[in-house]
Order: sequence, then C-alpha cells, then structure tokens
Amino acid sequence: MLCEVCGRQTQMLRVVSIEGSELNACPDCARFGVERSPKPKRMTAEPVRVSEALEKREKRAQTRDVFQEMSEELAPDFAQRIRKARERLNWTPEELGKKINEKKSVILKLESGQMRPDDALIRKLQRFLNVKLKERPTQMMAPRSSGPRGLTLGDLIKLEKR
Ligand SMILES: [Zn+2]
Repeated sequence: MLCEVCGRQTQMLRVVSIEGSELNACPDCARFGVERSPKPKRMTAEPVRVSEALEKREKRAQTRDVFQEMSEELAPDFAQRIRKARERLNWTPEELGKKINEKKSVILKLESGQMRPDDALIRKLQRFLNVKLKERPTQMMAPRSSGPRGLTLGDLIKLEKR
C-alpha cells in the first residue's frame, strides 16, 4: 500500500481528510490531516461511491460496445445471408431493391458476392431483411497454419450456383 501523501510504502493506511480531499495516508502523514470518523461519514459516503461505481461500470460497458461495433466486419458469407433472408421473406431481388431503394442489379451483385455493401447499405439490408451481416472476425484470432482456410470469393460463387 502506498501513502497518497508522501508516496511511501506503508503497512497501515488511514483515511484522512487533508484540505478537503480524502487521502489514504501513512500514520506519519495522517497527523497532518483530520482522520475521519468511520461510522457517521460512511453512511453518507457510501451511496455516492455506489453510484460512482455504477457510472464507471456503465461507461466501461459503453466503450466495450463501441469497440465491439467497430471491430465487426462484413461476414464472409454476407452474400448467402442476404439471399437466404430475402428468400425467407419471399421477396424477389427486384422487390428487395425497391424496399431499400437500390437497383435489382445491385441486389444480384450483392447476392453473388461481386459487390461488398458499404456501411449504409449494410444497415439498410440488416433492417429490412432482419439479418445480421456483420460479425467479429474470428479468423484473425485463429492460428493461420492450422484449420481449414476461410471462404474465398470463388467458394462463395460456387455456393451460390448450387
Ligand atoms: Zn505518508
């Protein structure tokens, strides 16, 4: 444990109030401050600490979400996902195109993997098709040498023709 006043290592820390701020101080430094009496002050101090802790936790969670969102990438099989979702809804490529304000040719290119949707298009597709097109890249975490290789565009096109 370190004394927050002199910075020395100490076995015993006391919480004292020095010029309005609460510090963990070694017995030597504690003399300069007012040692707070644990009982009554704790009662008032506790709720503040709890809400502060909650706030901090919330902030951490938000940061994590943002990070997760940013680290997500277009799924390698996005073309299949689009087509499957569209077929599930019984829409023709043309109908889907009309809904998201894109040409039929764009839909066909997306579904054959010839075109990668940009973020705005991904969001539209996800919303209208109720499908997830982005995911955290898993292949980056797996060792490169082992395991099957990822899907290539060629594989996707083969899958499409099935
Ligand atoms: Zn000290």
